[in-house]
Amino acid sequence: MSVELKAPRRAGVLREEPTIFEVGSRGRVGHSLPPLDVPEADLSKIPESVRRGPIDGMPEVSEVDVVRHFVRISRLNYAVDLGLYPLGSCTMKYNPKINEELARVEGLARAHPMQDPETVQGCLRVIWELEKSLRQITGMPRFTLQPAAGAHGEMVGILMVRAHHVKSGRPRSTILVPDSAHGTNPASAAMAGYKVEQIPTNARGCIDLGALRAKMTEDVAGLMLTNPNTLGIFEEEIEGIVASVHEKGGLVYMDGANMNALVGVARPGDMGIDVLHLNLHKTFSTPHGGGGPGSGPVGVSKVLEPYLPTPLVEESSGRLVLAENRPDSIGRVSSFFGNFGMHVRALAYIRSLGPDGLRMVAERAVLNANYIRAKLKDVYPVAFETPSLHEAILSDKLLEPKGVRTLDVAKRLLDYGFHPPTIYFPLVVHGAIMIEPTETESKAEIDAFIDAMRAIAAEAESDPEMVRKAPHTTPIGRLDEAEAARRPRLRFTPRED
Ligand SMILES: *Cc1c(COP(=O)(O)O)cnc(C)c1O
Repeated sequence: MSVELKAPRRAGVLREEPTIFEVGSRGRVGHSLPPLDVPEADLSKIPESVRRGPIDGMPEVSEVDVVRHFVRISRLNYAVDLGLYPLGSCTMKYNPKINEELARVEGLARAHPMQDPETVQGCLRVIWELEKSLRQITGMPRFTLQPAAGAHGEMVGILMVRAHHVKSGRPRSTILVPDSAHGTNPASAAMAGYKVEQIPTNARGCIDLGALRAKMTEDVAGLMLTNPNTLGIFEEEIEGIVASVHEKGGLVYMDGANMNALVGVARPGDMGIDVLHLNLHKTFSTPHGGGGPGSGPVGVSKVLEPYLPTPLVEESSGRLVLAENRPDSIGRVSSFFGNFGMHVRALAYIRSLGPDGLRMVAERAVLNANYIRAKLKDVYPVAFETPSLHEAILSDKLLEPKGVRTLDVAKRLLDYGFHPPTIYFPLVVHGAIMIEPTETESKAEIDAFIDAMRAIAAEAESDPEMVRKAPHTTPIGRLDEAEAARRPRLRFTPRED
């Protein structure tokens, strides 16, 4: 008699993974506590309004169930701790673990935001010292650390621009945004109640100064520019740009999310910028992606300082206090102080590198990107010959005739063990492949990436089908991305091919 062994569905060490709600069983728990040896509390004395009712459908699992479930899921994904993660504009750099340790120091991690400021002087000191560092780095006289993301910072910045114009008695209606700006810029301006008008890019990948001058009227509240812009190019005519906006009473917002290209080298405050945001989770090293946490401090010039959100940390005869009484402030933009754990990480990062180290961040980020650009542009042509900073924007122009597109290249990179770059952004470049290696990668890792990109270009010639059907070796194959976002199937089943 033969027994037919049916192997469970698995691919290597990966196996079918249900959701956490489907594992475990009735009554299984993740802890073992000794029997209660104190009198049981009478819950009926606790007001209904603060009592939690029973929760239906919670997973009932043991500790080992939980750990294995989440570790198995983590193996289905790519992470910056596994290898190069060259998502352009996102700055997925490696984050030193010392920052994590410091953010977990008990006095910092466990402080409560409603404690009396006198009892949390250390935490306020972190905020104050970080603000002082950011002022030095950017040349902006003051900062709020409250915004919880880059886009949140943009909105806070534009609300301050609005407050300034309203206070001066002449609210204006429009914000100008170049077509090379980050996509969040026009969205933030629109959310703050402005009409958005676009400024075209010139042949060098910069703002067309003539077009800007033509549009810059006294009804324009300001210009919102990304610098370096999303083509990775520094705005060469920044002084002329700022002057033409200021001439008509407008203000200049700089999206400084990609400050890693400039840090220690050039300061937005010296360029005449009125308001800018930074992304601590990009330039100043907090792990990000996957939904958080974020921190988008906003720095302002003297003109906008009165409008900064409350409370502001201030020093007064050696003690740190919370300044609440600021009549022109736009008010609170966050509960409490923003994502404080990120302030700790950013300060640790800045202090451990020091001024020379920070300058080296920018220099290496730019060097690495330009190395990739130089090594790949014969197979993936660049859209603009202007030298770029921290990212290389390539295109699929030479692959198109073979029926291979940017998306196929991105998917095939997964088979070579790399996270794909940002694709189809910026919109001004057809079939864009936006590569940001960051400064934390070694030459060996970057060379391996370049080899993979070149191998894929060769495959597009010899075996285009292979590229078009990629990825072949990942836990799941190519998804319909819109469908996957709208109707996610959370149960993992290994592919059969
Ligand atoms: C990432 C990024 C943003 C948005 O930052 P979030 O923290 O994701 O809101 C804005 N502008 C630029 C240039 C960026 O790279």
